[in-house]
Amino acid sequence: MSRADTAFQKCINPDCLAEFSCSEAFFNCPECGELLDIRYNWDKIEVPSKLSDFSKRWAMRNNRLDFSGVWRFRELLSFCKDEHKVSIGEGQTILQQNDNVAKYVKMKNGCLYLQYEGLNPSGSFKDNGMTAAFSHAKMVGAKSCACASTGNTSASMALYAHSCGLKSTVFIGSGRIAFGKLSQAMDYGAQTIQIAGDFDDCMRQVQDVCRQLGLYLLNSLNPFRLEGQKTIMYRIIEQFNWQVPDWIVVPGGNLGNSSAFGKAFAELKELGLIEKIPRIAIINATGADTLTDLVNNKGLDWNGGRVNQEVIDEYYADLMARKFSPHTCASAIEISRPVNLKKCLRTLDICNGIVRAVTDEEICDAKAVIGKYGLGCEPASAATLAGLKYLIADGTIGADEKVACVLTGHELKDPNVTVNYHKEKQGEFSNPPIEAANDINEIIKLMTAKN
Ligand SMILES: *Cc1c(COP(=O)(O)O)cnc(C)c1O
Ligand SMILES: [Zn+2]
Repeated sequence: MSRADTAFQKCINPDCLAEFSCSEAFFNCPECGELLDIRYNWDKIEVPSKLSDFSKRWAMRNNRLDFSGVWRFRELLSFCKDEHKVSIGEGQTILQQNDNVAKYVKMKNGCLYLQYEGLNPSGSFKDNGMTAAFSHAKMVGAKSCACASTGNTSASMALYAHSCGLKSTVFIGSGRIAFGKLSQAMDYGAQTIQIAGDFDDCMRQVQDVCRQLGLYLLNSLNPFRLEGQKTIMYRIIEQFNWQVPDWIVVPGGNLGNSSAFGKAFAELKELGLIEKIPRIAIINATGADTLTDLVNNKGLDWNGGRVNQEVIDEYYADLMARKFSPHTCASAIEISRPVNLKKCLRTLDICNGIVRAVTDEEICDAKAVIGKYGLGCEPASAATLAGLKYLIADGTIGADEKVACVLTGHELKDPNVTVNYHKEKQGEFSNPPIEAANDINEIIKLMTAKN
C-alpha cells in the first residue's frame, strides 16, 4: 500500500485495520476476514470546495464521465484512473416530489420525495455500484466475474460484463427470482447457475467458487460497488439544491445501500461539504427481518467497530437450527444473513438511524399507491413507503420533515406481484380487470357503471 495513491482498502475491524492497495481484489480482509472499506487520501485529490461545483458538469454531457450520474462525482470516489472507468450512462435518475403519495402516509404537502432508481440502464440502483466495481475489475485486469443474486445484481452485472468484455456467471436460488430480472441475466449473455437453495446458500457458494477459480466477485461484499452507490445520496442532495433532507428511507436487504449512504454522509461531513447528516430509516420485510431483530430486540450496535459478534453468531445458529428460510414477496430483500450487517450498523451510528419491518400486505398496498400516483416500483422499493407510514403514525418522523424514499427498482422487474395484487383483489388499491362479453352494449354498460 502506497501513501502516494489517492485511495486504499482498509479493514473495518478496529483490532486489525490492515491496509491494502486498490490494485488488489479481495472479497474481505485477508488478515482477519472482516469487511473492507475504500478510504481516501483526501489531500491528494482535488475535491471541489463546494458541492454546487459538481453542477457545472451538467453543461458538459458529451464527456462520458460527466454524463454518468456516478462519475460526475468522481473526486468523491477517486480510486482508479479515468481510462479504467466503465460507464453505460447510469445514474440519470430523478427525485420526484409527490403530494398524493404524501397524503397516503399523512405527510404535509411538499415534504415527501421519491428518488427513482428504476431509471438506471438495467432498471435498478445496482448499476450505480456495478459501474464502480467494473472499473475496479478493469483496473486489476479481471477477465471473468460472478455474483449471487436475488435478481437485480445479476441483471446489472450481466449488462456491465457484456459492455466491458468480461465473462459473467450468475448464481440464483431455485424458484424465487422475479422473471423480469432472470430474463435480463439470460438476455445479456450471463452464464446462469440455478442452485437448489436460497439466496444465502448462493452467497456462500459464490464466494468459494470465486476463490477457487479466481473470478472477480460482484456482490455488495465488494467494497468498490458501495463507492458507486454513494452517488445516490449525492444526487438526492443535488436535487435539494445541495441541502440535506431530514430523513432518508431505504429498503434493507444485503445492506449495501444503507452502508454506502452512511459512508457518503460521513465523508461529506469530514470534507466540510455538508453541515448536517440526515437520519436514516432502514426498512426490512417481516419475513426477512434479521437487522430489525438484532438492532431493536437484541440491542446490537456499532460500538465503535467492536460489534458483539457473539450476538450475531447465536442469531445465525438459531436460524440454522430452525432451518429458517426468509420469505417475502419483496424478493430483492429476501435475505436473512446480510453481508454488510456491520457496515450498516456503522451507518445507523453515523446517521442516528432506525430500523423497522413491514408485512408483505403493507408493502403491496404501498406499491400500488406509488404505482397509482407516482412512479411504479418493485415490491422491495415500496417497503420504504410502508415503513414511512408507520414512522409518521408513531411520531418518529414528523409530518412536516423532508423525507426522501429510495425507490430501488423498476416496476416491470416483477410483474407477477403486481398482477396478482390487482387480479386477486389482494388489497385496498386493487384495480382488477373487468370481464365483459364480446358485446358493445354490455361493454359500455360495464364501462359507465358506478360502483
Ligand atoms: C438489491 C436490492 C435491494 C436491497 O439493497 P441492499 O443494498 O442489498 O440492502 C432493494 N431493492 C432492490 C430493488 C434491489 O435490487
Ligand atoms: Zn482485517
